[in-house]
Amino acid sequence: MAIMLRAAGAWTGEGVVAPAEIHVDGARIAWIGRQGERPVPDGATVIELGAHWLLPGLVDAHLHLWGLDLSEPSALWSWTPAYRAARAVSDLGALLDAGITAVRCCGGPLGPSLARAVREGVVPGPHIVAAGEFVCSRAGTWDPAAWPLEWAERTGMFADGPDEIRRRVRERLRQGADFIKIGGSVGEHTDVLRPWGNDPARLRLSYGDDEVAAAVAEAHRNGLRVATHAIGDAAVRQALEAGVDTIEHGHGVTEDTAKRLADSGAWLVPTLSLPALRIERAPPAIAEGWKRHREVQRRSLQIALRQGVRIAAGTDFVGPPFTPLGPSAMELELLVEAGMTPEQALHAGTIGGAAAMGMADRIGRLAPGLEADVIAVPGDPARDIALVRRVGFVMRGGAVWKPLA
Ligand SMILES: [Zn+2]
Repeated sequence: MAIMLRAAGAWTGEGVVAPAEIHVDGARIAWIGRQGERPVPDGATVIELGAHWLLPGLVDAHLHLWGLDLSEPSALWSWTPAYRAARAVSDLGALLDAGITAVRCCGGPLGPSLARAVREGVVPGPHIVAAGEFVCSRAGTWDPAAWPLEWAERTGMFADGPDEIRRRVRERLRQGADFIKIGGSVGEHTDVLRPWGNDPARLRLSYGDDEVAAAVAEAHRNGLRVATHAIGDAAVRQALEAGVDTIEHGHGVTEDTAKRLADSGAWLVPTLSLPALRIERAPPAIAEGWKRHREVQRRSLQIALRQGVRIAAGTDFVGPPFTPLGPSAMELELLVEAGMTPEQALHAGTIGGAAAMGMADRIGRLAPGLEADVIAVPGDPARDIALVRRVGFVMRGGAVWKPLA
């Protein structure tokens, strides 16, 4: 089916077209250019978007599709995988409503199955690339150290030593994971914010160098990329030495480490949104820790920009009620507040995210041959980045998900 979109302008990822027209053929973009440059394709449905601007569907390069309510402590034990999956499917709808048409699920057991269900058209949703469950050392990044060890073992995320790490990577492979997520840094044993640390200046490495190297070698041998949760200079440096593909969070680095990151070609996903929301909503004692992270994140983003690090936008959201998946585009506003130009933030939230997902040849830009993941906002987003939170129209894979009201 042919569809023609007409709008006041388009931010394509490669430039600006105004007034803009996109011809969609089936699931793909057939043509983009100025209005009237080409005749309307035979039988095409014309969709007029008036003063709206078109842009590529947004990418959240770091979230977790858990289907959990983190305000409900027993949920992790008492909720069945089926119930959690049903909730996660509802989150996928919220993401599409907000114009997020591709996501990277950076750890969690449901991810690969949700990715399959979307890929096969079983449920609507953004493109998903998924890590499956974390790979984490005992006493490391995501070890809920207050639980009895035998309970924690049931998560299947623990791996100590190169052999057990190889085994976990192979398990993820047979579960259909697209990449491996390992935990590279952890706070003090008694910290409330253990995976991030109460104080970003006092983090430990979760793994020895040989263990990270084993994870990367085994993943790469099997065609999987590796993402590392790395906060603090030592963890980022260790990850880069081992050859990881994406650095998650990545704040607390020196200029020299940021330069190495830029030279390595790895992607950085700064995740400013999680601390921003938690500062607003968490009890004061916990909000203090998040505030410390926010300060370091802002400084680190400026260092990364100076050194030319490749950056993709990601929120680290996990769903309602603490971090609903609808307002995810707030990450782009936060990147601008922290020093990016709106153009750079749009890039991080589209092309950058697509590249971090390994999908830059299919999504992330408005160009002929790419998938027709197209959204519209009420104005030029390069002039006012806040417009990305007012998505009025969403097309995913050539099908209109959200018509203009
Ligand atoms: Zn995360």
